[in-house]
Amino acid sequence: MTESHHAVFGHPIAHSLSPRIHARFGRQTGVALRFEAIDATPDTFASALDAFAAAGGSGASVTLPLKEAALALCADASDRARRAGAVNTLVRDGGHWRGDNTDGVGLVRDLTGRHGLDLRQRRTLLLGAGGAAHGVAPALIDAGIGDLFIVNRTSARADALVDKLGLPKHVHSRYLEDLAALGEFDLVINATSAARAPAAGEAGSGLPTLPTSLVGARTACVDLSYGEVAIPFLAWARAAGAHHAIDGVGMLVEQAAEAFKLWHGIRPYTDEAYAALRERDALLVTGD
Ligand code: NAP
Repeated sequence: MTESHHAVFGHPIAHSLSPRIHARFGRQTGVALRFEAIDATPDTFASALDAFAAAGGSGASVTLPLKEAALALCADASDRARRAGAVNTLVRDGGHWRGDNTDGVGLVRDLTGRHGLDLRQRRTLLLGAGGAAHGVAPALIDAGIGDLFIVNRTSARADALVDKLGLPKHVHSRYLEDLAALGEFDLVINATSAARAPAAGEAGSGLPTLPTSLVGARTACVDLSYGEVAIPFLAWARAAGAHHAIDGVGMLVEQAAEAFKLWHGIRPYTDEAYAALRERDALLVTGD
């Protein structure tokens, strides 16, 4: 059987879980594949992607900080990738790259399928307006959430995301300083990278102060990050009394399954990969 060649591009990328997830999907579905992690910065991404294609690469995942750059390198992109302004999945098609974005559908599948949440009419707070927020906001709207408030450290980026979503009446941007005045939410999503260790030369960071008034007894709090990076937000959510405190492992597995389907035409079962990641890496257990 011919082995297909795949990779995840990002920076840093050494600790990416994607090679492990896709190897497991391959074994489960009988698809022969090779999946590597390729470190590329925005400056080196285009040439690294060319070299990957020249070596027979037929599909790639794209992560931080390359998702917007990936869209620019595509000859064609799906509607959801264009709405997100970011690509996390590349498919080689007739000598060109076709882009898609599976982050949003991955998050929605995790929340509704794995965690059994009904997203319809949920008053939602989205913290962050970077690549991940761009990816998940359209999918959350499509899933039928209620009012969506977008709050970002750089407020102009929150405004830009509201613009990009077509300025629907139920989507609003607000300042970080005004969080305490926003009341209680049914769904609070942390799509920031605030708790990540700062890169060399960057100032230290940390989760912004979040008022506990955002959380009620039925609130679901979701961090798109996982592992150590998700600890501060999930700890805050539990201390505030959230009903669910969910990290981004399930989203990671679901978005990967959607990418796998785009490349191989078959959607793997995800429960096994999800359980294996939790077990092998002792990642945070969700609090629901
Ligand atoms: P990004 O494009 O670099 O955006 C980072 C966001 O975090 C921006 O909104 C930024 O605000 C904000 N931020 C950074 N430091 C901050 C601080 N100290 N205080 C407040 N806000 C801060 O990154 P991304 O691609 O959106 O990724 C965000 C997180 O989601 C990452 O941890 C990533 O691993 C995770 N993620 C997970 C999955 C998954 O499958 N589970 C998928 C995608 C992303 P400014 O605009 O003000 O800089």
